[in-house]
Amino acid sequence: MMQLTIWGGAGEHGRSSYLLQYKDEAILLDCGGKKEGGGQYPLISPEVIPQLKAVFLSHAHEDHSMALPLLYKHGYEGEVWTSRVTAQQLPGYFQAWNRYARSQAAELPYGDEHIAAIRYAYLEEHTFAGEWSSVVSGLRIKWGRSGHLPGAVWLALDWHGKLVYFSGDYTGESGLLAADEPRLESIREGREGADDARRPISETRCIADLAIIDAAYGANPDSQAVRLAELERATEEVLRAQGSVLYPVPTSGRGQELLVWASECFPEAQLIVERALMEPFHQLAALPEWLGAGALARMEALLANGRLTIVADEEERLKALARKGSVLIFTNDGMMQSEVARWYYQQLSVAAHHAILLTGHLAAGSFGEMALRSSQGSDGSNGSGSILTRFPLPVQHIRYKVHQGLPDVRQMLERVPSRTTVLAHAVKPRTDELLEVLRDEGYEGIYSLSPGERLIL
Ligand SMILES: [Zn+2]
Ligand SMILES: [Zn+2]
Repeated sequence: MMQLTIWGGAGEHGRSSYLLQYKDEAILLDCGGKKEGGGQYPLISPEVIPQLKAVFLSHAHEDHSMALPLLYKHGYEGEVWTSRVTAQQLPGYFQAWNRYARSQAAELPYGDEHIAAIRYAYLEEHTFAGEWSSVVSGLRIKWGRSGHLPGAVWLALDWHGKLVYFSGDYTGESGLLAADEPRLESIREGREGADDARRPISETRCIADLAIIDAAYGANPDSQAVRLAELERATEEVLRAQGSVLYPVPTSGRGQELLVWASECFPEAQLIVERALMEPFHQLAALPEWLGAGALARMEALLANGRLTIVADEEERLKALARKGSVLIFTNDGMMQSEVARWYYQQLSVAAHHAILLTGHLAAGSFGEMALRSSQGSDGSNGSGSILTRFPLPVQHIRYKVHQGLPDVRQMLERVPSRTTVLAHAVKPRTDELLEVLRDEGYEGIYSLSPGERLIL
Protein backbone atom coordinates (compact mmCIF):
# COMPACT_ATOMS: atom_id res chain seq x y z
CA MET A 1 0.00 0.00 0.00
CA MET A 2 1.44 3.31 -1.08
CA GLN A 3 0.41 6.60 0.44
CA LEU A 4 0.59 10.17 -0.80
CA THR A 5 0.64 12.98 1.77
CA ILE A 6 0.35 16.60 0.70
CA TRP A 7 2.98 18.51 2.64
CA GLY A 8 2.05 21.55 0.58
CA GLY A 9 1.31 22.79 -2.93
CA ALA A 10 -2.18 21.34 -3.56
CA GLY A 11 -5.12 23.60 -2.79
CA GLU A 12 -2.72 26.53 -2.55
CA HIS A 13 -0.09 28.40 -4.52
CA GLY A 14 3.30 27.70 -2.97
CA ARG A 15 5.30 25.27 -0.77
CA SER A 16 5.02 22.42 -3.30
CA SER A 17 5.92 19.22 -1.46
CA TYR A 18 4.54 15.73 -2.02
CA LEU A 19 5.47 12.77 0.15
CA LEU A 20 5.17 9.20 -1.11
CA GLN A 21 5.44 6.41 1.46
CA TYR A 22 5.61 2.67 1.15
CA LYS A 23 6.06 0.65 4.37
CA ASP A 24 9.00 2.33 6.11
CA GLU A 25 10.36 4.02 2.99
CA ALA A 26 9.61 7.48 1.64
CA ILE A 27 10.28 9.66 -1.38
CA LEU A 28 9.75 13.41 -1.53
CA LEU A 29 8.87 15.45 -4.60
CA ASP A 30 9.85 19.13 -4.13
CA CYS A 31 10.11 21.09 -0.88
CA GLY A 32 9.17 24.71 -1.47
CA GLY A 33 8.21 27.88 0.36
CA LYS A 34 5.08 29.97 0.13
CA LYS A 35 5.65 33.70 -0.26
CA GLU A 36 3.06 34.93 2.18
CA GLY A 37 3.32 36.20 5.74
CA GLY A 38 7.12 36.19 5.64
CA GLY A 39 7.27 32.62 4.36
CA GLN A 40 5.27 29.46 4.95
CA TYR A 41 6.82 26.01 4.78
CA PRO A 42 5.67 22.46 4.02
CA LEU A 43 4.08 20.34 6.77
CA ILE A 44 7.27 18.32 7.24
CA SER A 45 7.01 15.44 9.73
CA PRO A 46 10.54 15.14 11.13
CA GLU A 47 9.97 11.46 11.96
CA VAL A 48 9.63 10.72 8.23
CA ILE A 49 13.04 12.17 7.36
CA PRO A 50 15.05 9.01 8.24
CA GLN A 51 12.76 7.07 5.86
CA LEU A 52 13.58 9.24 2.85
CA LYS A 53 15.25 7.21 0.12
CA ALA A 54 15.45 10.11 -2.33
CA VAL A 55 14.31 13.69 -2.78
CA PHE A 56 13.52 15.15 -6.20
CA LEU A 57 13.39 18.81 -7.16
CA SER A 58 11.43 19.73 -10.30
CA HIS A 59 12.92 23.23 -10.72
CA ALA A 60 14.53 26.15 -8.94
CA HIS A 61 11.52 28.37 -8.24
CA GLU A 62 11.09 29.32 -4.59
CA ASP A 63 7.70 27.64 -4.25
CA HIS A 64 9.38 24.29 -5.04
CA SER A 65 12.83 24.59 -3.47
CA MET A 66 13.12 26.99 -0.55
CA ALA A 67 12.33 24.46 2.18
CA LEU A 68 14.96 21.91 1.06
CA PRO A 69 17.39 23.06 3.81
CA LEU A 70 14.76 22.09 6.40
CA LEU A 71 15.17 18.45 5.35
CA TYR A 72 18.87 18.65 6.21
CA LYS A 73 18.12 20.51 9.44
CA HIS A 74 15.94 17.54 10.39
CA GLY A 75 18.74 15.12 9.56
CA TYR A 76 18.33 14.14 5.90
CA GLU A 77 21.68 12.94 4.62
CA GLY A 78 20.77 11.86 1.10
CA GLU A 79 20.78 13.59 -2.22
CA VAL A 80 18.44 15.97 -3.99
CA TRP A 81 17.97 14.77 -7.56
CA THR A 82 17.55 17.64 -9.98
CA SER A 83 19.10 19.09 -13.12
CA ARG A 84 22.53 20.73 -12.96
CA VAL A 85 21.02 23.98 -14.27
CA THR A 86 18.48 24.00 -11.44
CA ALA A 87 21.22 23.53 -8.83
CA GLN A 88 23.15 26.41 -10.39
CA GLN A 89 20.11 28.71 -10.15
CA LEU A 90 19.37 27.93 -6.50
CA PRO A 91 21.92 30.18 -4.72
CA GLY A 92 20.26 33.23 -6.31
CA TYR A 93 16.83 32.05 -5.14
CA PHE A 94 18.11 31.39 -1.59
CA GLN A 95 19.49 34.93 -1.45
CA ALA A 96 16.23 36.39 -2.74
CA TRP A 97 14.23 34.31 -0.22
CA ASN A 98 16.44 35.53 2.60
CA ARG A 99 15.91 39.15 1.50
CA TYR A 100 12.16 38.53 1.28
CA ALA A 101 12.02 37.05 4.81
CA ARG A 102 14.02 39.96 6.21
CA SER A 103 11.80 42.50 4.43
CA GLN A 104 8.84 40.90 6.23
CA ALA A 105 10.72 40.80 9.57
CA ALA A 106 10.42 37.00 9.46
CA GLU A 107 12.99 34.47 10.68
CA LEU A 108 14.24 31.81 8.31
CA PRO A 109 13.60 28.42 9.92
CA TYR A 110 17.06 27.21 8.83
CA GLY A 111 20.61 28.50 8.68
CA ASP A 112 23.25 28.88 5.98
CA GLU A 113 24.78 25.59 7.15
CA HIS A 114 21.60 23.76 6.14
CA ILE A 115 21.69 25.31 2.67
CA ALA A 116 25.35 24.33 2.39
CA ALA A 117 24.47 20.77 3.48
CA ILE A 118 22.31 20.10 0.41
CA ARG A 119 23.90 17.44 -1.78
CA TYR A 120 22.79 17.43 -5.39
CA ALA A 121 22.72 14.57 -7.87
CA TYR A 122 22.18 15.49 -11.50
CA LEU A 123 19.48 13.83 -13.54
CA GLU A 124 20.89 14.68 -16.95
CA GLU A 125 24.30 13.33 -16.02
CA HIS A 126 22.74 10.10 -14.83
CA THR A 127 20.42 9.41 -17.73
CA PHE A 128 19.08 10.97 -20.93
CA ALA A 129 15.64 12.59 -21.02
CA GLY A 130 12.94 10.02 -21.73
CA GLU A 131 14.95 6.99 -20.57
CA TRP A 132 14.24 4.88 -17.55
CA SER A 133 17.07 4.36 -15.12
CA SER A 134 17.62 3.28 -11.55
CA VAL A 135 18.60 6.06 -9.13
CA VAL A 136 18.49 4.17 -5.84
CA SER A 137 17.76 0.51 -5.32
CA GLY A 138 14.14 -0.31 -6.08
CA LEU A 139 13.41 3.06 -7.66
CA ARG A 140 13.49 3.73 -11.38
CA ILE A 141 12.83 7.14 -12.79
CA LYS A 142 12.46 8.95 -16.04
CA TRP A 143 12.57 12.71 -16.58
CA GLY A 144 11.73 15.17 -19.34
CA ARG A 145 11.95 18.92 -19.91
CA SER A 146 8.84 20.72 -18.65
CA GLY A 147 9.15 23.99 -20.64
CA HIS A 148 8.71 26.15 -17.53
CA LEU A 149 12.25 27.31 -16.74
CA PRO A 150 15.68 26.19 -17.95
CA GLY A 151 16.41 23.06 -15.98
CA ALA A 152 12.76 22.42 -15.10
CA VAL A 153 11.71 18.79 -15.38
CA TRP A 154 8.76 16.43 -15.05
CA LEU A 155 9.35 13.06 -13.46
CA ALA A 156 7.96 9.55 -13.75
CA LEU A 157 8.73 7.11 -10.95
CA ASP A 158 8.47 3.34 -10.92
CA TRP A 159 8.51 2.36 -7.26
CA HIS A 160 7.22 -0.76 -5.51
CA GLY A 161 5.05 -1.66 -8.47
CA LYS A 162 3.43 1.76 -8.77
CA LEU A 163 3.83 4.27 -11.57
CA VAL A 164 3.82 7.88 -10.42
CA TYR A 165 3.92 10.91 -12.70
CA PHE A 166 4.79 14.38 -11.38
CA SER A 167 4.51 17.19 -13.93
CA GLY A 168 6.39 19.78 -11.84
CA ASP A 169 5.43 23.16 -13.29
CA TYR A 170 4.64 22.41 -16.92
CA THR A 171 3.87 24.32 -20.07
CA GLY A 172 3.99 23.26 -23.68
CA GLU A 173 3.53 26.91 -24.74
CA SER A 174 6.86 28.52 -23.89
CA GLY A 175 8.22 30.98 -26.43
CA LEU A 176 11.82 29.89 -25.88
CA LEU A 177 11.98 26.64 -23.93
CA ALA A 178 11.50 23.09 -25.13
CA ALA A 179 9.08 20.72 -23.41
CA ASP A 180 9.13 16.95 -23.74
CA GLU A 181 5.66 15.49 -24.03
CA PRO A 182 5.00 13.07 -21.21
CA ARG A 183 3.87 9.88 -22.95
CA LEU A 184 2.75 6.82 -21.09
CA GLU A 185 3.52 4.57 -24.04
CA SER A 186 7.16 5.12 -23.35
CA ILE A 187 6.58 4.37 -19.67
CA ARG A 188 5.30 1.02 -20.87
CA GLU A 189 8.39 0.55 -23.03
CA GLY A 190 10.42 1.13 -19.88
CA ARG A 191 8.47 -1.57 -18.09
CA GLU A 192 9.40 -3.97 -20.85
CA GLY A 193 13.10 -3.29 -20.26
CA ALA A 194 15.67 -5.58 -18.70
CA ASP A 195 14.48 -5.00 -15.11
CA ASP A 196 11.07 -6.36 -16.01
CA ALA A 197 12.09 -9.14 -18.36
CA ARG A 198 10.24 -11.73 -16.29
CA ARG A 199 7.05 -9.73 -16.03
CA PRO A 200 4.41 -11.07 -18.44
CA ILE A 201 3.45 -8.49 -21.07
CA SER A 202 -0.19 -8.76 -20.00
CA GLU A 203 0.81 -7.27 -16.65
CA THR A 204 2.57 -4.36 -18.28
CA ARG A 205 0.56 -1.34 -17.33
CA CYS A 206 0.14 1.74 -19.44
CA ILE A 207 -1.90 3.64 -16.89
CA ALA A 208 -0.21 5.52 -14.06
CA ASP A 209 -1.31 4.85 -10.49
CA LEU A 210 -0.87 8.49 -9.50
CA ALA A 211 -0.35 11.72 -11.42
CA ILE A 212 0.29 15.03 -9.67
CA ILE A 213 -0.17 17.70 -12.28
CA ASP A 214 0.23 21.43 -12.60
CA ALA A 215 -3.22 23.00 -12.74
CA ALA A 216 -2.19 26.48 -11.61
CA TYR A 217 -4.68 28.31 -13.81
CA GLY A 218 -7.69 26.31 -12.69
CA ALA A 219 -10.49 26.12 -15.24
CA ASN A 220 -9.19 29.04 -17.29
CA PRO A 221 -9.69 28.15 -20.95
CA ASP A 222 -7.16 30.54 -22.56
CA SER A 223 -4.28 29.46 -24.75
CA GLN A 224 -1.01 31.39 -24.80
CA ALA A 225 -1.98 32.81 -28.20
CA VAL A 226 -5.11 34.37 -26.65
CA ARG A 227 -3.03 35.93 -23.86
CA LEU A 228 -0.44 37.35 -26.24
CA ALA A 229 -3.18 38.86 -28.39
CA GLU A 230 -4.56 40.54 -25.24
CA LEU A 231 -1.13 41.85 -24.29
CA GLU A 232 -0.62 43.14 -27.80
CA ARG A 233 -3.95 44.99 -27.74
CA ALA A 234 -3.27 46.51 -24.32
CA THR A 235 0.22 47.62 -25.35
CA GLU A 236 -0.97 49.04 -28.65
CA GLU A 237 -3.59 51.12 -26.89
CA VAL A 238 -1.01 52.77 -24.63
CA LEU A 239 1.42 53.36 -27.48
CA ARG A 240 -1.34 54.93 -29.55
CA ALA A 241 -1.93 57.42 -26.72
CA GLN A 242 1.83 58.21 -26.75
CA GLY A 243 2.23 56.45 -23.43
CA SER A 244 4.88 54.08 -22.14
CA VAL A 245 4.33 50.59 -20.78
CA LEU A 246 6.09 49.09 -17.78
CA TYR A 247 6.35 45.29 -17.72
CA PRO A 248 7.51 44.07 -14.30
CA VAL A 249 8.78 40.51 -14.80
CA PRO A 250 10.86 38.07 -12.77
CA THR A 251 14.60 38.22 -13.38
CA SER A 252 14.62 34.85 -15.05
CA GLY A 253 11.69 33.25 -16.83
CA ARG A 254 8.81 34.86 -18.69
CA GLY A 255 10.71 38.17 -18.79
CA GLN A 256 13.05 36.94 -21.50
CA GLU A 257 10.16 35.44 -23.48
CA LEU A 258 8.12 38.64 -23.26
CA LEU A 259 11.12 40.75 -24.24
CA VAL A 260 11.64 38.71 -27.40
CA TRP A 261 7.90 38.86 -28.07
CA ALA A 262 7.74 42.65 -27.54
CA SER A 263 10.71 43.29 -29.83
CA GLU A 264 9.10 41.18 -32.56
CA CYS A 265 5.57 42.45 -32.05
CA PHE A 266 6.51 46.15 -31.80
CA PRO A 267 9.59 46.46 -34.00
CA GLU A 268 9.35 50.26 -34.00
CA ALA A 269 9.21 50.64 -30.22
CA GLN A 270 12.10 51.72 -28.03
CA LEU A 271 12.91 49.18 -25.33
CA ILE A 272 14.43 50.04 -21.95
CA VAL A 273 15.59 46.91 -20.15
CA GLU A 274 17.18 46.41 -16.74
CA ARG A 275 20.57 44.75 -17.10
CA ALA A 276 19.56 42.01 -14.66
CA LEU A 277 17.07 40.80 -17.28
CA MET A 278 19.75 40.51 -19.98
CA GLU A 279 22.06 38.17 -18.07
CA PRO A 280 19.63 35.22 -18.36
CA PHE A 281 19.84 35.50 -22.16
CA HIS A 282 23.50 34.60 -21.96
CA GLN A 283 22.65 31.76 -19.63
CA LEU A 284 19.95 30.56 -22.03
CA ALA A 285 22.28 30.77 -25.02
CA ALA A 286 24.70 28.53 -23.13
CA LEU A 287 21.95 25.93 -22.60
CA PRO A 288 20.81 25.07 -26.13
CA GLU A 289 19.66 21.65 -24.92
CA TRP A 290 16.83 23.36 -22.96
CA LEU A 291 15.72 25.63 -25.83
CA GLY A 292 12.96 25.20 -28.37
CA ALA A 293 13.39 25.39 -32.13
CA GLY A 294 14.39 28.85 -33.40
CA ALA A 295 14.89 30.27 -29.89
CA LEU A 296 18.59 31.05 -30.31
CA ALA A 297 18.04 33.02 -33.52
CA ARG A 298 15.20 35.01 -31.94
CA MET A 299 17.33 35.88 -28.91
CA GLU A 300 20.21 36.95 -31.16
CA ALA A 301 17.87 39.23 -33.11
CA LEU A 302 16.82 40.90 -29.85
CA LEU A 303 20.42 41.47 -28.78
CA ALA A 304 21.16 43.06 -32.17
CA ASN A 305 18.10 45.34 -31.94
CA GLY A 306 19.25 48.97 -32.24
CA ARG A 307 16.25 50.16 -30.20
CA LEU A 308 17.32 48.29 -27.10
CA THR A 309 18.72 50.38 -24.21
CA ILE A 310 20.11 48.44 -21.25
CA VAL A 311 20.18 50.28 -17.92
CA ALA A 312 21.62 49.42 -14.54
CA ASP A 313 21.60 52.59 -12.40
CA GLU A 314 19.45 55.65 -11.78
CA GLU A 315 21.48 57.90 -14.05
CA GLU A 316 21.11 55.52 -16.98
CA ARG A 317 17.41 55.06 -16.26
CA LEU A 318 16.72 58.80 -16.14
CA LYS A 319 18.70 59.36 -19.33
CA ALA A 320 16.80 56.62 -21.15
CA LEU A 321 13.40 57.85 -19.90
CA ALA A 322 14.23 61.46 -20.85
CA ARG A 323 14.29 60.57 -24.53
CA LYS A 324 11.21 61.55 -26.49
CA GLY A 325 8.49 59.12 -27.36
CA SER A 326 6.91 55.99 -25.98
CA VAL A 327 8.99 53.22 -24.51
CA LEU A 328 8.42 49.65 -23.44
CA ILE A 329 10.19 49.22 -20.11
CA PHE A 330 11.16 45.85 -18.69
CA THR A 331 12.11 45.83 -15.02
CA ASN A 332 12.85 42.83 -12.85
CA ASP A 333 10.56 41.74 -10.02
CA GLY A 334 7.20 40.60 -11.32
CA MET A 335 5.36 41.58 -8.12
CA MET A 336 7.08 45.01 -8.01
CA GLN A 337 8.53 44.46 -4.55
CA SER A 338 11.95 45.77 -5.56
CA GLU A 339 12.99 49.38 -5.15
CA VAL A 340 13.71 49.70 -8.86
CA ALA A 341 10.26 48.50 -9.89
CA ARG A 342 8.67 50.98 -7.50
CA TRP A 343 10.98 53.73 -8.79
CA TYR A 344 9.63 53.17 -12.30
CA TYR A 345 6.11 53.33 -10.91
CA GLN A 346 6.89 56.73 -9.38
CA GLN A 347 8.47 57.96 -12.60
CA LEU A 348 5.53 56.93 -14.76
CA SER A 349 2.85 58.10 -12.35
CA VAL A 350 3.42 61.71 -13.47
CA ALA A 351 0.99 61.09 -16.30
CA ALA A 352 -2.09 58.95 -16.76
CA HIS A 353 -1.39 57.80 -20.29
CA HIS A 354 1.35 55.42 -19.12
CA ALA A 355 0.41 51.95 -17.95
CA ILE A 356 1.66 48.86 -16.16
CA LEU A 357 1.07 45.39 -17.51
CA LEU A 358 1.45 42.70 -14.88
CA THR A 359 1.86 39.24 -16.35
CA GLY A 360 2.34 36.78 -13.50
CA HIS A 361 1.37 35.64 -10.02
CA LEU A 362 0.70 38.43 -7.52
CA ALA A 363 1.03 37.55 -3.85
CA ALA A 364 -1.48 39.19 -1.53
CA GLY A 365 -0.03 42.42 -0.18
CA SER A 366 2.68 42.74 -2.82
CA PHE A 367 3.20 46.19 -4.34
CA GLY A 368 2.02 44.91 -7.72
CA GLU A 369 -1.19 43.57 -6.23
CA MET A 370 -1.81 46.84 -4.37
CA ALA A 371 -1.10 48.88 -7.51
CA LEU A 372 -3.58 46.74 -9.42
CA ARG A 373 -6.27 47.14 -6.75
CA SER A 374 -5.55 50.85 -6.50
CA SER A 375 -5.94 51.18 -10.26
CA GLN A 376 -9.28 49.41 -10.04
CA GLY A 377 -10.29 51.65 -7.14
CA SER A 378 -10.89 48.54 -5.01
CA ASP A 379 -8.33 49.15 -2.28
CA GLY A 380 -10.69 51.26 -0.25
CA SER A 381 -8.91 54.44 -1.30
CA ASN A 382 -11.20 55.24 -4.21
CA GLY A 383 -8.17 55.22 -6.42
CA SER A 384 -6.40 58.05 -4.63
CA GLY A 385 -3.46 58.00 -2.31
CA SER A 386 -3.00 55.02 0.01
CA ILE A 387 0.46 53.51 -0.51
CA LEU A 388 0.76 54.97 -3.95
CA THR A 389 1.75 58.53 -4.63
CA ARG A 390 0.13 61.03 -7.00
CA PHE A 391 -2.55 59.26 -8.96
CA PRO A 392 -2.61 55.55 -9.55
CA LEU A 393 -1.39 54.33 -12.91
CA PRO A 394 -3.63 52.16 -15.03
CA VAL A 395 -2.59 48.63 -14.18
CA GLN A 396 -3.73 45.55 -16.07
CA HIS A 397 -3.14 41.94 -15.16
CA ILE A 398 -2.80 39.71 -18.24
CA ARG A 399 -1.08 36.49 -17.34
CA TYR A 400 1.61 35.12 -19.60
CA LYS A 401 1.24 31.38 -19.31
CA VAL A 402 4.00 29.38 -17.65
CA HIS A 403 1.61 26.81 -16.19
CA GLN A 404 -1.40 24.77 -17.24
CA GLY A 405 -5.02 25.81 -17.54
CA LEU A 406 -8.08 23.79 -18.57
CA PRO A 407 -7.04 22.85 -22.15
CA ASP A 408 -3.55 21.88 -20.98
CA VAL A 409 -4.78 19.79 -18.04
CA ARG A 410 -7.22 18.04 -20.35
CA GLN A 411 -4.39 17.25 -22.76
CA MET A 412 -2.20 15.94 -19.94
CA LEU A 413 -5.00 13.69 -18.68
CA GLU A 414 -5.15 12.19 -22.19
CA ARG A 415 -1.39 11.78 -22.47
CA VAL A 416 -0.88 10.48 -18.95
CA PRO A 417 -3.98 8.50 -18.10
CA SER A 418 -3.89 7.73 -14.39
CA ARG A 419 -6.11 5.92 -11.90
CA THR A 420 -5.64 8.85 -9.54
CA THR A 421 -4.83 12.42 -10.51
CA VAL A 422 -4.16 15.25 -8.07
CA LEU A 423 -4.63 18.78 -9.39
CA ALA A 424 -1.92 21.00 -7.94
CA HIS A 425 -0.65 24.56 -7.69
CA ALA A 426 -3.89 26.57 -7.30
CA VAL A 427 -5.97 27.69 -4.35
CA LYS A 428 -8.77 25.34 -3.32
CA PRO A 429 -11.75 27.17 -4.91
CA ARG A 430 -9.98 27.36 -8.30
CA THR A 431 -8.98 23.71 -8.08
CA ASP A 432 -12.55 22.71 -7.11
CA GLU A 433 -13.90 24.64 -10.07
CA LEU A 434 -11.56 22.81 -12.46
CA LEU A 435 -12.45 19.49 -10.84
CA GLU A 436 -16.15 20.16 -11.46
CA VAL A 437 -15.54 20.92 -15.14
CA LEU A 438 -13.45 17.78 -15.62
CA ARG A 439 -15.99 15.58 -13.81
CA ASP A 440 -18.73 16.95 -16.03
CA GLU A 441 -16.62 15.95 -19.01
CA GLY A 442 -16.45 12.40 -17.66
CA TYR A 443 -12.95 12.26 -16.17
CA GLU A 444 -12.69 10.04 -13.10
CA GLY A 445 -10.28 9.62 -10.21
CA ILE A 446 -9.41 13.31 -10.05
CA TYR A 447 -8.76 15.00 -6.71
CA SER A 448 -8.65 18.52 -5.34
CA LEU A 449 -6.71 18.22 -2.08
CA SER A 450 -5.36 20.49 0.66
CA PRO A 451 -2.13 20.44 2.67
CA GLY A 452 -2.17 17.66 5.25
CA GLU A 453 -4.50 15.42 3.25
CA ARG A 454 -3.58 11.85 2.28
CA LEU A 455 -4.45 9.44 -0.49
CA ILE A 456 -3.99 5.70 -0.45
CA LEU A 457 -2.93 4.33 -3.84
ZN1 LIG B 1 7.76 27.40 -11.20
ZN1 LIG C 1 5.45 26.65 -8.97
